[in-house]
Amino acid sequence: MRKISVVIPCFNEEEALPVYYSEMCKVMRRMPGTEFELLFVDDGSSDRTLAVLKGLCEADRRCKYLSFSRNFGKEAALYAGLKNAQGDYVATMDVDLQDPPGLLPEMYRILEEEAYDSVATRRATRTGEPKIRSFLSESFYKFMNRISKTEIVNGARDYRLMKRKMVDAVLGMSEYNRFSKGIFEWVGFRTKWLEFQNVGRCAGETKWTVKKLFLYSLEGITGFSVAPLSLAAVVGVLFCILAFFMILVIVVRTVIWGDPVSGWPSLACIIFLVSGIQLFCTGIVGQYLSKTYLETKHRPIFILKDSSEEDERTHEKVSV
Ligand code: UDP
Ligand code: MG
Repeated sequence: MRKISVVIPCFNEEEALPVYYSEMCKVMRRMPGTEFELLFVDDGSSDRTLAVLKGLCEADRRCKYLSFSRNFGKEAALYAGLKNAQGDYVATMDVDLQDPPGLLPEMYRILEEEAYDSVATRRATRTGEPKIRSFLSESFYKFMNRISKTEIVNGARDYRLMKRKMVDAVLGMSEYNRFSKGIFEWVGFRTKWLEFQNVGRCAGETKWTVKKLFLYSLEGITGFSVAPLSLAAVVGVLFCILAFFMILVIVVRTVIWGDPVSGWPSLACIIFLVSGIQLFCTGIVGQYLSKTYLETKHRPIFILKDSSEEDERTHEKVSV
C-alpha cells in the first residue's frame, strides 16, 4: 500500500487547524487504498497551535508534529517536514484551506497513471486579493523570469505532490536562504500543473505582510539569478561612453567660446545621479554578499524543540 505524507506548515493557526483536519479526513476517506501521514510543522507559534496539534496526534495515529524552538519561517517548516516525511509520495499544503485538499485524489491519480514525477498547482485568478498585492506579485514574476534561467510559474502555489525521488532531490539542496518555488523548478523532473480558482482563508489571518513578501522576493532573485550583479558593469560602461562624448563636447566648446564658469547646477545633478547609481550597485553586491555570508556560516535551517516522536518515546519509557 502506498504511503502519502502531507507536510503542513502552521504558524499561529489554532483556528484553522480543526477545520483543516476535518476537511482532510473527508479526503482521506475518499482514498481508501492509501496510507496517510499528516506531518504538521509548528513554526514557533505563540498561540495554542501546539496544544491543538498534540490533541490531534493523540486522537489520530496518522497525525504527527514537529515543533520549532522559534519562528523560522514557512520555508524552514517545509524543509523540516520534507526531511521527516516517510511517504512514497509527499505533498506540501497550507493549513488555511487556500490549497484545496480536495485536489489530492486527482493529483495522486495523475502520479499513479501518467508519467509525471510531480503535480503542482497554480491559482488561475487572484480574486479576493488586494489589487496592489496582485500587481506587485505579477511584476515580480515578470522580472524574475526575465533575469533567471529557472522559470517561476506565475501564481504557482507551494501546494504539490511529489514522488520520493524528487523529494530527495529537493532535500539535497540544503541551502540556508530557501525559495521553494525556485528549488522545485531547479531540480527538474516532469511536473504537471493543475489550476484552481483562488479561495479565501478559512480562518485566521495571512502571515505575510508586504514587507515580508518583498524580502521573500529578494530571496527569489538572489537565489536564482546573478544578473543584478552585472548591472554595475553595464551601467558603468554606458556612463563611460556618455562621459567620453561629453568631454569631447566640452573641449570643443571651450576652444571655440572660451570657458566662463557656469553650469555648476548641472554638475551637481550629475554627481548626485552617478553617486546614487554607485550606491545602488554597491547595495546589490551587498545583498549577494550577505546571502553568501549567511550561507558560509552553515547554520541549521531549523531547530526542533519538540516532536510527536519524542512524545512517544517518553510515553514508552513511562509505561515500561
Ligand atoms: N506559515 C509558516 N510560518 C510563517 C508564516 C506562515 O509556517 O512564518 C504557514 C502558515 O501557517 C500557512 C502557510 O504558511 O499554513 C501560508 O501562510 P499564509 O496563509 O499566511 O500565507 P498566504 O496564503 O496569505 O500567502
Ligand atoms: Mg494562506
